[in-house]
Amino acid sequence: MAGYHPYRNLRLPPNAPFELRPSPGKGWGAFATRLIHRGEVILRENPLFVIPGPNVTDKSLWQAFLGLSQDQQQQFSYIRNNSSTLFTDMIQAMSQNHFTVVDDNPVTAQLHLLGFFVLQSRFNHSCLPNSTTPAAPTYTVTRYATRPIFAGDEITFSYTPDLKFMVRQERHRALRFVCTCSACQVSTPNRIGIPHQTVSDQRRVLIRGLQYLVSGQDPVLKRRHGPVEDMAVPPLFFDLAKKREAESLRIPLSAKFIAVLLYAALLEEEDILDDHMLNIMRPNSLRIAHRFRTRSNIAIVRHVWAQSTWAIRFWYALFYLWNKTDAADP
Ligand SMILES: [Zn+2]
Repeated sequence: MAGYHPYRNLRLPPNAPFELRPSPGKGWGAFATRLIHRGEVILRENPLFVIPGPNVTDKSLWQAFLGLSQDQQQQFSYIRNNSSTLFTDMIQAMSQNHFTVVDDNPVTAQLHLLGFFVLQSRFNHSCLPNSTTPAAPTYTVTRYATRPIFAGDEITFSYTPDLKFMVRQERHRALRFVCTCSACQVSTPNRIGIPHQTVSDQRRVLIRGLQYLVSGQDPVLKRRHGPVEDMAVPPLFFDLAKKREAESLRIPLSAKFIAVLLYAALLEEEDILDDHMLNIMRPNSLRIAHRFRTRSNIAIVRHVWAQSTWAIRFWYALFYLWNKTDAADP
């Protein structure tokens, strides 16, 4: 039948602000059917089933499937891979339709649980996403708009949080496909005429280096479960003494404060600083601000914090605090 696709049978919640339809080059995607405001909930969904991961077996997936109601099995049967063909096995179906879920039960909270999501898995990736599914202590996955999404726009999200620390080629290796968002398209100029992609790569190397500097760990390598030999690590540190200082958490407070402000400013400039990240960033940077003990530094920090944007805060901190020692330094 012309125009038929099993996704037309998937049940969306009543009043869902999106529809499913083909997305050129990406199979199918989800598109806004009206203006969705920043912070608005786009979709709350419970998994069809949850199983312990990260590695799953065909047998455990079949068991989970057989435990579903007939109606749920039917919803499951509508799911296709990106080229709209049937999955060849259950593991492949799971790998492309799962989200990590969190349990607030103290016994199982430490398990790496994977939920199978029929609708949340229909949203495509972008390195400059307009939605996010922040972790919450529940099996329900909730998707929020991170910026206004206009009717007709595709709704996207970043497949994993690590991707913000990677340059274009690393992201494509990790994603196992070539993303065509404007952070990945080489030719798209930004508002001052420089290709966004070139600047984006430089920004993301800096973002990763700053995270390393502040936390003492490479944010990409520390999260990898499997082998890392295919990960080309860009030179995050030119100064090995600094690298050692970072890894033993001996960074002076002023340098740490400047690094955190620059980190936020770069995320904002890259256009990936959403409200959920801000809810983590703001208290984190305030905690660092509150640690200063030298009177003159405290006055500067107050002045820095009173500024209106992360970029201005960064410049003020750089100007007044660069190389300053503090009584609270490690
Ligand atoms: Zn991309």
